[in-house]
Amino acid sequence: VTEVISPGLVTRSANWWQELPLHALEPNQWEALCDGCGRCCLHSLEEVESGRVFITDVACRLLDVNTGQCVDYRLRQSRVPQCVQLTPDNIDQCVWLPETCAYRLRAQGLPLPQWHYLVCGDREAVQRAGIGVAGRCVSETPQRLKRLQERVVAWIEPKVLE
Ligand code: SF4
Repeated sequence: VTEVISPGLVTRSANWWQELPLHALEPNQWEALCDGCGRCCLHSLEEVESGRVFITDVACRLLDVNTGQCVDYRLRQSRVPQCVQLTPDNIDQCVWLPETCAYRLRAQGLPLPQWHYLVCGDREAVQRAGIGVAGRCVSETPQRLKRLQERVVAWIEPKVLE
């Protein structure tokens, strides 16, 4: 859906996040799709026999555990080589992303949830909905990484990798 607002100037629909496929998003729209939950920044454990993935409350060392934001987003991949840059082409392979992840939902053609800030206009709604990890996680340390089994959380459902 397009709307002509003046000669030569065309804007996309106000609801671009619901209507455009991931491949059609501009770079700034791609970034804006993230709900800021921080769930993808938590360490997880895979149970090999069952394929179940359990999420812990131990966060990447670059995550500010109070705000749930990456403290060095621009350089995150050089500082944490295992940090995966999400793209429209790899999103289907990122099976470890939470079910609530906006990229995952849109890749499946599903709508964003009501608490997503693009839908409700409130950046804090993700926290009130119990989705954001801010204030509910700890930063990684060598000791915590060695004992991840003890830090599995109940507030994120384990998922089965397909
Ligand atoms: S899980 Fe998805 S929506 Fe949440 S912070 Fe990570 S990329 Fe953004």
